[in-house]
Amino acid sequence: NKTISVSQIKDAAQEAYAQFKDNTGGKNADYIPYLANIDKNLFGISICLLDGRIITLGDSSYRFGIESVSKVHTAILALRQYGAEKVLKMIGADATGLPFNSIMAILLENDHPSTPLVNAGAITACSMVQPVGDSDKKWEAIVSNITDLCGSAPQLIDELYKSETATNFNNRSIAWLLKNYNRIYDDPDMSLDLYTRQCSLGITAEQLSIAAATVANDGVNPVTKKPVFDASLSPKITSLVATVGFYERTGDWLYTSGIPAKTGVGGGVMGIMPGHFGISAFAPPLDSSGNSVKAQLAIKYIMNKLGISIFGST
Ligand code: GLU
Repeated sequence: NKTISVSQIKDAAQEAYAQFKDNTGGKNADYIPYLANIDKNLFGISICLLDGRIITLGDSSYRFGIESVSKVHTAILALRQYGAEKVLKMIGADATGLPFNSIMAILLENDHPSTPLVNAGAITACSMVQPVGDSDKKWEAIVSNITDLCGSAPQLIDELYKSETATNFNNRSIAWLLKNYNRIYDDPDMSLDLYTRQCSLGITAEQLSIAAATVANDGVNPVTKKPVFDASLSPKITSLVATVGFYERTGDWLYTSGIPAKTGVGGGVMGIMPGHFGISAFAPPLDSSGNSVKAQLAIKYIMNKLGISIFGST
């Protein structure tokens, strides 16, 4: 592991913040009014080191919709409850090369949803959450897992949940197609509702950086010091994120940034740098694949400036 000082990380983060703060590229997600109306100038960066120190810049404590970043958290819950082998068999761990909401993701790999990090596999992961059959207890387990990972609780954004529920036709068909292929392990409507609710949780960049640092720190939350999951799961989680974290743009992202990271249409990105830190950046305007423009620029800048990458250091 290349040694990097805290002041190097701070400098890189400050430079990235200053350089991209006024960037006007991209467009807020517009499929629901809540996301379309979020202030497009919000911009935050947070880096959580493995000793628990946190470097924050800008709007790092603004609560935004976690959206697809929540797929990582619930994949972790499925891994905690079922173990690595069963998650591979029941969902899969393969790249899809497809957009987040792809119906095709179900049909790949012999009717197997491929990965818990696209909608199909994420809905399957929600169906697996124990205790199966009990929606309230399942929801409690999902929230308490996110709370363990982030070191503090997320908060449901009611308006977001209502809009998502009123417009999630595509996800409804995914849930029922999963049922058709016997790839959903609880009631499809309930599993879909849990997925929709988890996407509507409000989270901050600071919280996501702590969750990412928990993965980078072999399952021990560096801030609360609480062991959240078994160390053997860390490489599994990071490999899922590396494989499909940016959907159809994942290869380009990994090639240019060197860090496994997961995005959400709320504008958040959460990156895992094993042995070093967890990082999150947040800014609402998205590129054409639904990934935050400024968050990508900032994280890439920081990684390249530090000269580190999951594939080796320079
Ligand atoms: N709620 C969104 C959906 O499932 C999440 C999409 C995303 O963040 O990529 O359609």
